[in-house]
Amino acid sequence: MNIQSVVRNVYPNLTPYICQLADLPIEELKEALQKETVYKLSFNENPLGPSPKALKAMGEALQSLNLYPSSKGEKLQEAIAQREGVQRDQVLLSNGADEMINLAAQTFLEPGDEVVIPAVTFVQYEAAAHLMGAVPVKVPMTGKLEIDLEGIIQAITTETKMICLCNPNNPTGAIISDKQMGAFLKRVPKDVVVIIDEAYYEYADSSEFSTAVKYIKNHENVLVVRTFSKIYSLAAARIGYGIGNETLVEAIHHVRPPFNVNAIAQAGALASLNDQEHVQVSKQLNEKGKQLLYETFEQLGFEYVKTNGNFVYVDTKIDSDHLFQELAKKGVIVRILKGYGLPASLRVSVGAEEEVKAFIQALNEIL
Ligand SMILES: *Cc1c(COP(=O)(O)O)cnc(C)c1O
Repeated sequence: MNIQSVVRNVYPNLTPYICQLADLPIEELKEALQKETVYKLSFNENPLGPSPKALKAMGEALQSLNLYPSSKGEKLQEAIAQREGVQRDQVLLSNGADEMINLAAQTFLEPGDEVVIPAVTFVQYEAAAHLMGAVPVKVPMTGKLEIDLEGIIQAITTETKMICLCNPNNPTGAIISDKQMGAFLKRVPKDVVVIIDEAYYEYADSSEFSTAVKYIKNHENVLVVRTFSKIYSLAAARIGYGIGNETLVEAIHHVRPPFNVNAIAQAGALASLNDQEHVQVSKQLNEKGKQLLYETFEQLGFEYVKTNGNFVYVDTKIDSDHLFQELAKKGVIVRILKGYGLPASLRVSVGAEEEVKAFIQALNEIL
């Protein structure tokens, strides 16, 4: 069989998830680096781990492993709806936020449609566009590495079907202010779907930030995307959700696989929502780690961005491949951003205090 002749036309634009050092799970990292302790600060994971209440609920859910899960996950839908002040049918569960992005792409994108995406943001929007044969249109960032909303408006053509925004933005940690977002949405044509990925929304502490959930009422084209992978620390369980107007959400149900979110994840997510104390502790931990990183970068004269997430963007002025290798030798793994044309920048996750301190010590030794 000649595989090239049977795969879809979009195939050349698709790449498998390449597992470089920074993408390996911690056990594989230990083996690759031949180290007993590895500090993995490349995935923005919550070092605290899930709420004990979630773990208990997930253990209990194991008893029913022979049964199919609830297709829509009504209990969790309802709990999310109540927290967000929306209707249950305005919430759609997904197998991680990643699947939510793909589901939206499968629902709305035809080959040749344009998807407008900021140049420095989460990579899955571009991948989802390619999957559908759509055309990603990248809009350069402003000089301050912020999302250029004016540039995005200018990039809209008659072919534009979707705009993807990440707020707070990964990998910079910067935000689109609520004022900017409100003004922006008014200017977007009604038949352009706006994905607003709020994977880090629980961490956002800028007074100018607001969730975009309130906009779904007057903007039927807005889909807010969230995840339980980050502050709720359920990354391995794979669960996220979307919030949008019920007509938009209903359209996405047409392409959603019947049992896309497993029962263990549903149980864990529901229990997690009911443990807001755990969320607060996670935030406090993040706050402490953030400050340690800021102090270090200031002492070293590195430019960094005040983050609204659980990671810090920093420009070290040193070639990031070199710095990555030297840090890895000391068991510290960070994210380099060369793929975005940022040759001296790193994204460092705010790990546990011990991990952040290990990074700082390694950095100081290298310099
Ligand atoms: C981590 C992340 C996701 C993926 O979340 P999952 O729920 O684990 O699929 C989506 N968007 C952004 C911006 C992220 O950083």
